[in-house]
Parts: sequence; C-alpha cells; structure tokens
Amino acid sequence: MTLTVTVWGEFVHERRNAEIAALYPDGMHEAIAQCIRAGVDDAAVRTATLDQAEHGLDEPTLASTDVLIWWGHLAHEQVDDRVVDRVQARVLDGMGLIVLHSAHLSKIFRRLMGTRCNLRWRAADDRELIWTVAPQHPIAAGVPHPVVLERHEMYGEYFDIPPPDEIVFLSSFSGGEVFRSGCCFRRGKGKVFYFSPGHETYPIYRHPDIARILCNAVRWAAPQPSAIDTHTSPRSNKNWWVSA
Ligand code: ZN
Repeated sequence: MTLTVTVWGEFVHERRNAEIAALYPDGMHEAIAQCIRAGVDDAAVRTATLDQAEHGLDEPTLASTDVLIWWGHLAHEQVDDRVVDRVQARVLDGMGLIVLHSAHLSKIFRRLMGTRCNLRWRAADDRELIWTVAPQHPIAAGVPHPVVLERHEMYGEYFDIPPPDEIVFLSSFSGGEVFRSGCCFRRGKGKVFYFSPGHETYPIYRHPDIARILCNAVRWAAPQPSAIDTHTSPRSNKNWWVSA
C-alpha cells in the first residue's frame, strides 16, 4: 500500500539568505522530502509551500495525505487559520503529523497542544547529543545512541508542552542544557511527533541518522485502520440478548 506523504515548507529563509540557500538549494522541504523518498520504499512524497494557493494544502491534497511533515519559522502568522482548521480536522480523523524544529511555534502545533510551546534557545554552534530514552519505540529503530550533531542550535527546557504520551529522544548540549527533542502525542485518531533538530543554518536534513528518524516517524505516524467507526452509534447491538 502506498503511503502518501506531504512535506510542507515555509520556504522563506532559503530565498532570503545565500548561506541557507547554499545548504538547501531546492529548499528545506525538498531535502526533507528526499530523506523520505530514499528511506520509505512505499511512500509517494510531494511538497507544499506557504506561497502556493491555500499554502498547497487544499482539501483534496490533505484528504489524500497520510502523513504531513511541517517546517516553519519566520511566517507562522501568515498561515491562514482556515488551513490550520483543515489540518487539525485531518489529524483528528487520523492523519499523522510530524512537526519539526522551529515549528514548535506554528499555529497548528500550538493548536494541537493547547499550550504556548515556548522553549529556551541559543544559536552558538553547540554540540548536540540525541539520546534514545525509549529503545523499544519504532521511531528509535536502528538509531545510534547517541546521534551526534557536531554543531547545532541549542533548544532547552523548559519546553511548554503538555506531558507527551511518549518521549523517544532527549538531547543534551555542550552548554549543559537538556531538551525533550522527540515527543509523541495522540490527538483524536491522529498521531503527532515533534522532533527538534533542523535549524536552517546547519545541514541537519542531510545527516543520515536524522533521515532515519524521519523515515521511522513517517511509518509510526501513518494512519492505522480503526476497529470502531466512531461516527455511528452502537444501535445494531441494542437487542443482542434477545436473539441469544
Ligand atoms: Zn532554529
């Protein structure tokens, strides 16, 4: 069965800053999409960006998306609330959502969390170690312990999110901080994974261990067939005892 993945990228930094454009000449969304194409055999991967009509997330596109990946930073407030409503409804109906790095402040993530989602940060070439704290979790399969990012932006606690259903990764930084860098949530029928690596001035989405985590997350977040149709009432069971 083909898994349809849509990678949403804000695509603003890459067109304003030559250093970032050199790292991601086709945009960060294309680099992320390439990770999934290379690592998930049965995935059909497409991309969408802020500047497209309805940000590339019209009704038919979302209806046919199994897993949506979201990277944004500068333009969270430019995302149309109607598109946020639509994405939220799809998550509640079972679409997987992977929220990356600075998208912790995206409208859709704050909406789904119900908290401010603030954190501490410092862009100073810290060394980040990503430790697996749930070794049995499917997102951790085959991931080195720890993953080493020689240079990255520091994201630190306190991270203002509700308690995650599962924490898969915990990062430590050369400055001494720690951060819940891989967190799973369930909202309605949908699964949400927040993963913090991915600052735009470092080639994080070209790192093979990061690609592995993203591919594992896509498989984990993919919708599962439901045993119960929650849209119908249990009327058919009303007289079960009469015929018994
Ligand atoms: Zn950043």
